[in-house]
Amino acid sequence: MSNLVLVEGISGAGKSTAINFIQSYLSTFNIQSHTFNEPGHMRDEIKKYHNREDRDLQLEFDHYVLSRKVDLHHKVMPTIKNHPKDTILIDRSWISTMVYQQTEQCPMINIRDYHSFYPKHNLALLLICDPETAYQRILKRKETQGIELSTSENPKRIAELRKSYIEAFDLVDYSVIINTDGSENAVNCILKSYMNKLLGIKEKKIVFLDKDGTLVDNSKYPEVIPTDEILFADTLEGLYKLKSAGYEFHMISSQPWVAKGQLSLDQTNEIFESVIEQYKKYGIEFTGYGFCEHHRSDNCPDKKPNTGLLEQIATQQNIDISQSFFIGDMESDIECGYNFGLQTGLVTKYSNAKTIDNLSQQRFKRTPNYTAINLNEIANQIIEN
Ligand SMILES: [Zn+2]
Repeated sequence: MSNLVLVEGISGAGKSTAINFIQSYLSTFNIQSHTFNEPGHMRDEIKKYHNREDRDLQLEFDHYVLSRKVDLHHKVMPTIKNHPKDTILIDRSWISTMVYQQTEQCPMINIRDYHSFYPKHNLALLLICDPETAYQRILKRKETQGIELSTSENPKRIAELRKSYIEAFDLVDYSVIINTDGSENAVNCILKSYMNKLLGIKEKKIVFLDKDGTLVDNSKYPEVIPTDEILFADTLEGLYKLKSAGYEFHMISSQPWVAKGQLSLDQTNEIFESVIEQYKKYGIEFTGYGFCEHHRSDNCPDKKPNTGLLEQIATQQNIDISQSFFIGDMESDIECGYNFGLQTGLVTKYSNAKTIDNLSQQRFKRTPNYTAINLNEIANQIIEN
Protein backbone atom coordinates (compact mmCIF):
# COMPACT_ATOMS: atom_id res chain seq x y z
CA MET A 1 0.00 0.00 0.00
CA SER A 2 1.32 3.46 -0.81
CA ASN A 3 2.32 5.87 1.91
CA LEU A 4 -0.08 8.73 2.44
CA VAL A 5 1.47 11.90 3.87
CA LEU A 6 -0.64 14.91 4.76
CA VAL A 7 1.14 18.26 4.80
CA GLU A 8 -0.61 21.08 6.60
CA GLY A 9 0.54 24.54 7.53
CA ILE A 10 -0.27 28.15 8.11
CA SER A 11 0.34 30.61 5.28
CA GLY A 12 4.02 31.40 5.04
CA ALA A 13 5.14 28.29 6.92
CA GLY A 14 6.82 26.86 3.83
CA LYS A 15 4.57 24.00 2.72
CA SER A 16 5.56 24.08 -0.95
CA THR A 17 9.25 24.18 -0.06
CA ALA A 18 8.74 21.23 2.28
CA ILE A 19 6.84 19.23 -0.33
CA ASN A 20 9.56 19.88 -2.90
CA PHE A 21 12.18 18.63 -0.47
CA ILE A 22 10.18 15.51 0.43
CA GLN A 23 9.72 14.70 -3.25
CA SER A 24 13.42 15.06 -3.99
CA TYR A 25 14.40 13.09 -0.88
CA LEU A 26 12.05 10.25 -1.85
CA SER A 27 13.49 10.26 -5.37
CA THR A 28 16.94 9.44 -3.96
CA PHE A 29 15.37 6.10 -2.96
CA ASN A 30 13.69 5.82 -6.39
CA ILE A 31 10.31 6.39 -4.78
CA GLN A 32 7.83 8.22 -6.99
CA SER A 33 5.51 10.72 -5.37
CA HIS A 34 2.20 12.31 -6.34
CA THR A 35 1.04 15.59 -4.85
CA PHE A 36 -2.54 16.78 -4.59
CA ASN A 37 -3.34 20.38 -3.79
CA GLU A 38 -6.45 22.05 -2.49
CA PRO A 39 -8.88 22.35 -5.38
CA GLY A 40 -8.09 25.83 -6.64
CA HIS A 41 -11.37 26.23 -8.49
CA MET A 42 -13.17 26.13 -5.13
CA ARG A 43 -11.29 29.19 -3.97
CA ASP A 44 -12.63 31.18 -6.90
CA GLU A 45 -16.06 29.62 -6.55
CA ILE A 46 -16.39 30.60 -2.91
CA LYS A 47 -14.99 34.07 -3.52
CA LYS A 48 -17.94 34.78 -5.80
CA TYR A 49 -20.30 34.60 -2.85
CA HIS A 50 -18.37 37.00 -0.66
CA ASN A 51 -20.22 40.16 -1.48
CA ARG A 52 -23.67 38.64 -1.65
CA GLU A 53 -26.25 39.60 0.90
CA ASP A 54 -27.69 36.10 0.96
CA ARG A 55 -24.28 34.60 1.75
CA ASP A 56 -24.56 31.32 3.70
CA LEU A 57 -21.31 30.29 5.39
CA GLN A 58 -22.47 26.80 6.26
CA LEU A 59 -23.57 26.19 2.69
CA GLU A 60 -20.22 27.42 1.36
CA PHE A 61 -18.47 25.15 3.78
CA ASP A 62 -20.55 22.10 2.82
CA HIS A 63 -20.01 22.93 -0.84
CA TYR A 64 -16.29 22.99 -0.30
CA VAL A 65 -16.24 19.76 1.70
CA LEU A 66 -18.26 17.96 -0.95
CA SER A 67 -15.90 19.17 -3.65
CA ARG A 68 -12.99 17.84 -1.60
CA LYS A 69 -14.77 14.52 -1.29
CA VAL A 70 -15.28 14.31 -5.04
CA ASP A 71 -11.61 15.13 -5.53
CA LEU A 72 -10.64 12.37 -3.15
CA HIS A 73 -12.90 9.84 -4.81
CA HIS A 74 -11.94 10.57 -8.40
CA LYS A 75 -8.27 11.54 -8.09
CA VAL A 76 -6.58 10.60 -4.84
CA MET A 77 -8.05 7.15 -4.17
CA PRO A 78 -7.39 5.80 -7.69
CA THR A 79 -3.77 7.03 -7.44
CA ILE A 80 -3.32 5.30 -4.09
CA LYS A 81 -4.79 2.11 -5.58
CA ASN A 82 -2.85 2.18 -8.85
CA HIS A 83 0.55 3.13 -7.44
CA PRO A 84 1.04 0.93 -4.40
CA LYS A 85 4.79 1.61 -4.20
CA ASP A 86 4.54 5.38 -4.48
CA THR A 87 4.05 8.09 -1.88
CA ILE A 88 0.98 10.30 -2.02
CA LEU A 89 1.41 13.82 -0.64
CA ILE A 90 -1.59 15.98 0.12
CA ASP A 91 -0.97 19.70 0.34
CA ARG A 92 -3.62 20.75 2.86
CA SER A 93 -6.19 18.08 3.48
CA TRP A 94 -8.66 17.41 6.22
CA ILE A 95 -7.99 20.64 8.03
CA SER A 96 -7.80 22.63 4.90
CA THR A 97 -7.66 26.30 5.70
CA MET A 98 -9.23 27.51 2.52
CA VAL A 99 -12.76 27.67 3.87
CA TYR A 100 -11.44 28.87 7.19
CA GLN A 101 -9.71 31.70 5.39
CA GLN A 102 -12.62 32.52 3.14
CA THR A 103 -15.42 32.12 5.64
CA GLU A 104 -13.81 33.57 8.68
CA GLN A 105 -16.22 32.22 11.28
CA CYS A 106 -15.56 28.62 10.43
CA PRO A 107 -13.85 26.90 13.37
CA MET A 108 -10.91 24.69 12.64
CA ILE A 109 -12.11 21.71 14.65
CA ASN A 110 -15.25 21.48 12.50
CA ILE A 111 -13.13 21.36 9.39
CA ARG A 112 -11.17 18.48 10.82
CA ASP A 113 -14.35 16.56 11.62
CA TYR A 114 -15.78 17.17 8.19
CA HIS A 115 -12.67 15.81 6.64
CA SER A 116 -12.58 12.56 8.54
CA PHE A 117 -13.45 10.88 5.25
CA TYR A 118 -9.78 10.94 4.33
CA PRO A 119 -8.19 7.48 4.20
CA LYS A 120 -5.92 6.47 7.05
CA HIS A 121 -2.68 8.37 6.65
CA ASN A 122 0.81 7.25 7.53
CA LEU A 123 2.06 10.64 8.58
CA ALA A 124 0.58 14.09 9.07
CA LEU A 125 2.99 17.02 9.19
CA LEU A 126 1.97 20.40 10.50
CA LEU A 127 4.34 23.22 9.60
CA ILE A 128 4.16 26.23 11.86
CA CYS A 129 6.30 29.27 12.58
CA ASP A 130 5.96 32.52 14.46
CA PRO A 131 3.03 34.49 13.00
CA GLU A 132 5.32 37.46 12.40
CA THR A 133 7.83 35.27 10.53
CA ALA A 134 4.97 33.86 8.45
CA TYR A 135 3.68 37.33 7.67
CA GLN A 136 7.11 38.56 6.57
CA ARG A 137 7.43 35.55 4.25
CA ILE A 138 4.01 36.24 2.74
CA LEU A 139 5.00 39.87 2.14
CA LYS A 140 8.20 38.72 0.46
CA ARG A 141 6.24 36.28 -1.69
CA LYS A 142 4.02 39.16 -2.79
CA GLU A 143 7.10 41.23 -3.65
CA THR A 144 8.90 38.51 -5.58
CA GLN A 145 6.04 36.54 -7.12
CA GLY A 146 3.24 39.09 -7.15
CA ILE A 147 0.92 36.84 -5.12
CA GLU A 148 -1.72 39.05 -3.49
CA LEU A 149 -2.45 38.66 0.22
CA SER A 150 -5.85 37.29 1.22
CA THR A 151 -7.86 39.03 3.94
CA SER A 152 -6.82 36.38 6.44
CA GLU A 153 -3.12 36.84 5.82
CA ASN A 154 -2.29 39.21 8.64
CA PRO A 155 -0.33 38.41 11.84
CA LYS A 156 -3.45 38.35 14.05
CA ARG A 157 -5.38 35.89 11.88
CA ILE A 158 -2.29 33.79 11.24
CA ALA A 159 -1.81 33.53 15.02
CA GLU A 160 -5.41 32.34 15.44
CA LEU A 161 -5.03 29.84 12.66
CA ARG A 162 -1.79 28.55 14.15
CA LYS A 163 -3.50 27.98 17.51
CA SER A 164 -6.46 26.17 15.92
CA TYR A 165 -4.14 23.96 13.92
CA ILE A 166 -2.14 22.95 16.97
CA GLU A 167 -5.31 22.12 18.91
CA ALA A 168 -6.68 20.08 16.04
CA PHE A 169 -3.40 18.26 15.49
CA ASP A 170 -3.35 17.12 19.06
CA LEU A 171 -6.29 14.85 18.27
CA VAL A 172 -4.71 13.13 15.31
CA ASP A 173 -2.70 9.92 15.02
CA TYR A 174 0.75 9.91 13.44
CA SER A 175 0.96 13.66 13.58
CA VAL A 176 4.09 15.74 13.90
CA ILE A 177 4.35 19.48 14.47
CA ILE A 178 7.42 20.98 12.82
CA ASN A 179 8.50 24.53 13.51
CA THR A 180 9.85 26.23 10.44
CA ASP A 181 11.40 29.27 12.10
CA GLY A 182 14.88 27.96 11.35
CA SER A 183 16.72 27.97 8.03
CA GLU A 184 15.40 26.07 5.00
CA ASN A 185 18.22 23.53 5.42
CA ALA A 186 17.31 23.02 9.07
CA VAL A 187 13.69 22.35 8.13
CA ASN A 188 14.84 19.91 5.43
CA CYS A 189 16.93 18.03 8.02
CA ILE A 190 13.87 17.75 10.26
CA LEU A 191 11.72 16.55 7.35
CA LYS A 192 14.39 14.03 6.38
CA SER A 193 14.26 12.55 9.86
CA TYR A 194 10.47 12.05 9.73
CA MET A 195 10.59 10.63 6.21
CA ASN A 196 13.30 8.20 7.38
CA LYS A 197 10.91 6.93 10.03
CA LEU A 198 8.26 6.39 7.37
CA LEU A 199 10.76 4.54 5.17
CA GLY A 200 12.00 2.42 8.08
CA ILE A 201 15.54 3.82 7.97
CA LYS A 202 17.50 3.45 11.18
CA GLU A 203 18.41 6.71 12.88
CA LYS A 204 20.62 7.57 15.82
CA LYS A 205 19.81 9.61 18.89
CA ILE A 206 22.34 12.35 19.60
CA VAL A 207 22.77 14.72 22.50
CA PHE A 208 24.41 17.85 21.15
CA LEU A 209 26.34 19.49 23.95
CA ASP A 210 27.62 22.99 24.30
CA LYS A 211 31.17 23.05 25.68
CA ASP A 212 31.72 26.17 27.78
CA GLY A 213 29.41 26.37 30.77
CA THR A 214 28.09 22.87 30.08
CA LEU A 215 31.07 20.48 29.94
CA VAL A 216 33.68 23.02 31.00
CA ASP A 217 33.43 25.63 33.74
CA ASN A 218 32.57 29.03 32.33
CA SER A 219 31.66 30.72 35.58
CA LYS A 220 34.84 32.79 35.75
CA TYR A 221 34.53 34.42 32.35
CA PRO A 222 35.69 37.09 31.36
CA GLU A 223 38.65 36.81 33.76
CA VAL A 224 39.22 33.21 32.64
CA ILE A 225 38.53 32.02 29.10
CA PRO A 226 37.15 28.46 29.37
CA THR A 227 39.51 25.86 27.91
CA ASP A 228 39.75 22.10 28.48
CA GLU A 229 39.31 21.81 32.22
CA ILE A 230 36.46 19.33 32.21
CA LEU A 231 33.85 19.09 34.93
CA PHE A 232 33.38 15.92 36.90
CA ALA A 233 30.99 13.97 39.11
CA ASP A 234 27.60 15.41 38.15
CA THR A 235 28.42 16.00 34.49
CA LEU A 236 30.04 12.62 34.04
CA GLU A 237 27.21 10.84 35.85
CA GLY A 238 24.69 12.49 33.52
CA LEU A 239 26.69 11.47 30.46
CA TYR A 240 26.91 7.84 31.68
CA LYS A 241 23.13 7.73 32.08
CA LEU A 242 22.53 9.18 28.64
CA LYS A 243 25.06 6.80 27.11
CA SER A 244 23.28 3.82 28.69
CA ALA A 245 20.02 5.14 27.25
CA GLY A 246 21.53 4.91 23.77
CA TYR A 247 22.55 8.49 23.06
CA GLU A 248 25.66 9.55 21.18
CA PHE A 249 27.40 12.85 21.99
CA HIS A 250 28.61 15.70 19.83
CA MET A 251 29.98 19.10 20.88
CA ILE A 252 28.67 22.29 19.26
CA SER A 253 30.37 25.43 20.48
CA SER A 254 31.01 29.13 19.98
CA GLN A 255 34.65 30.23 20.26
CA PRO A 256 34.59 33.98 19.64
CA TRP A 257 37.96 34.26 21.40
CA VAL A 258 39.51 33.18 18.10
CA ALA A 259 38.05 36.19 16.29
CA LYS A 260 39.11 38.34 19.23
CA GLY A 261 42.68 37.10 18.82
CA GLN A 262 42.80 35.54 22.30
CA LEU A 263 43.23 31.96 21.01
CA SER A 264 44.48 30.62 17.68
CA LEU A 265 42.52 28.10 15.60
CA ASP A 266 45.18 25.46 16.31
CA GLN A 267 45.01 26.09 20.05
CA THR A 268 41.21 25.88 19.92
CA ASN A 269 41.29 22.55 18.09
CA GLU A 270 43.82 21.25 20.64
CA ILE A 271 41.46 22.23 23.44
CA PHE A 272 38.58 20.31 21.88
CA GLU A 273 40.77 17.27 21.22
CA SER A 274 41.88 17.42 24.84
CA VAL A 275 38.29 17.51 26.13
CA ILE A 276 37.45 14.50 23.95
CA GLU A 277 40.58 12.63 25.12
CA GLN A 278 39.82 13.27 28.77
CA TYR A 279 36.22 12.06 28.49
CA LYS A 280 37.39 9.02 26.56
CA LYS A 281 39.48 7.98 29.56
CA TYR A 282 36.26 7.95 31.56
CA GLY A 283 34.45 5.85 28.96
CA ILE A 284 32.52 8.66 27.27
CA GLU A 285 33.05 8.99 23.52
CA PHE A 286 32.15 11.99 21.40
CA THR A 287 31.35 11.51 17.72
CA GLY A 288 33.08 14.83 17.13
CA TYR A 289 32.86 18.56 17.61
CA GLY A 290 32.20 21.72 15.68
CA PHE A 291 32.71 25.34 16.60
CA CYS A 292 32.20 28.79 15.14
CA GLU A 293 35.22 31.02 15.64
CA HIS A 294 33.58 34.25 14.49
CA HIS A 295 32.22 37.33 16.21
CA ARG A 296 28.47 37.39 16.76
CA SER A 297 28.27 40.39 14.43
CA ASP A 298 29.75 38.32 11.57
CA ASN A 299 26.35 36.62 11.11
CA CYS A 300 28.02 33.27 10.49
CA PRO A 301 25.52 30.49 9.64
CA ASP A 302 27.42 28.28 12.11
CA LYS A 303 27.09 30.68 15.05
CA LYS A 304 24.40 29.57 17.49
CA PRO A 305 21.42 30.10 17.39
CA ASN A 306 22.05 29.43 13.68
CA THR A 307 22.13 25.74 12.90
CA GLY A 308 24.84 25.41 10.22
CA LEU A 309 26.96 22.99 12.25
CA LEU A 310 23.95 20.77 12.99
CA GLU A 311 22.88 20.84 9.35
CA GLN A 312 26.25 19.47 8.26
CA ILE A 313 25.94 16.51 10.62
CA ALA A 314 22.29 15.78 9.87
CA THR A 315 22.92 15.89 6.12
CA GLN A 316 25.69 13.29 6.38
CA GLN A 317 24.02 11.04 8.96
CA ASN A 318 20.52 9.86 9.81
CA ILE A 319 19.58 11.53 13.06
CA ASP A 320 16.35 10.93 14.90
CA ILE A 321 15.48 14.60 15.42
CA SER A 322 12.48 13.94 17.67
CA GLN A 323 14.62 11.82 20.03
CA SER A 324 17.69 14.07 20.03
CA PHE A 325 18.61 16.97 22.30
CA PHE A 326 20.56 20.17 22.53
CA ILE A 327 21.89 20.89 26.00
CA GLY A 328 23.62 24.11 26.90
CA ASP A 329 23.81 26.97 29.36
CA MET A 330 22.78 29.91 27.18
CA GLU A 331 19.73 31.14 25.34
CA SER A 332 21.55 30.70 22.02
CA ASP A 333 21.85 26.96 22.80
CA ILE A 334 18.12 26.67 23.47
CA GLU A 335 17.22 28.72 20.40
CA CYS A 336 19.59 26.67 18.24
CA GLY A 337 18.01 23.40 19.40
CA TYR A 338 14.53 24.80 18.85
CA ASN A 339 15.41 25.95 15.33
CA PHE A 340 16.50 22.42 14.57
CA GLY A 341 13.41 20.70 15.99
CA LEU A 342 15.38 19.23 18.91
CA GLN A 343 14.31 18.99 22.52
CA THR A 344 16.35 21.32 24.68
CA GLY A 345 17.94 21.32 28.11
CA LEU A 346 19.35 24.24 30.07
CA VAL A 347 22.04 23.64 32.71
CA THR A 348 22.99 26.40 35.08
CA LYS A 349 25.67 25.39 37.57
CA TYR A 350 28.76 26.15 35.51
CA SER A 351 27.27 28.90 33.42
CA ASN A 352 28.46 32.46 33.46
CA ALA A 353 24.88 33.33 34.48
CA LYS A 354 25.24 30.79 37.37
CA THR A 355 21.74 30.35 38.73
CA ILE A 356 18.40 29.30 37.30
CA ASP A 357 16.92 32.48 38.73
CA ASN A 358 19.37 34.63 36.84
CA LEU A 359 18.77 32.68 33.66
CA SER A 360 14.98 32.78 33.88
CA GLN A 361 15.12 36.51 34.49
CA GLN A 362 16.49 36.80 30.99
CA ARG A 363 13.09 35.62 29.73
CA PHE A 364 14.12 33.32 26.94
CA LYS A 365 12.28 33.58 23.65
CA ARG A 366 11.90 29.74 23.70
CA THR A 367 11.35 27.88 26.92
CA PRO A 368 13.76 24.95 27.36
CA ASN A 369 12.09 21.51 27.59
CA TYR A 370 14.25 20.80 30.63
CA THR A 371 16.00 23.11 33.07
CA ALA A 372 18.22 21.89 35.90
CA ILE A 373 21.30 22.74 37.87
CA ASN A 374 23.52 20.17 36.16
CA LEU A 375 23.74 17.56 33.43
CA ASN A 376 22.96 14.71 35.81
CA GLU A 377 19.62 16.28 36.74
CA ILE A 378 18.80 16.89 33.08
CA ALA A 379 19.68 13.26 32.28
CA ASN A 380 17.36 12.08 35.07
CA GLN A 381 14.54 14.18 33.63
CA ILE A 382 15.15 12.97 30.07
CA ILE A 383 15.26 9.31 31.09
CA GLU A 384 12.18 9.58 33.33
CA ASN A 385 10.14 10.97 30.45
ZN1 LIG B 1 31.46 30.93 12.12
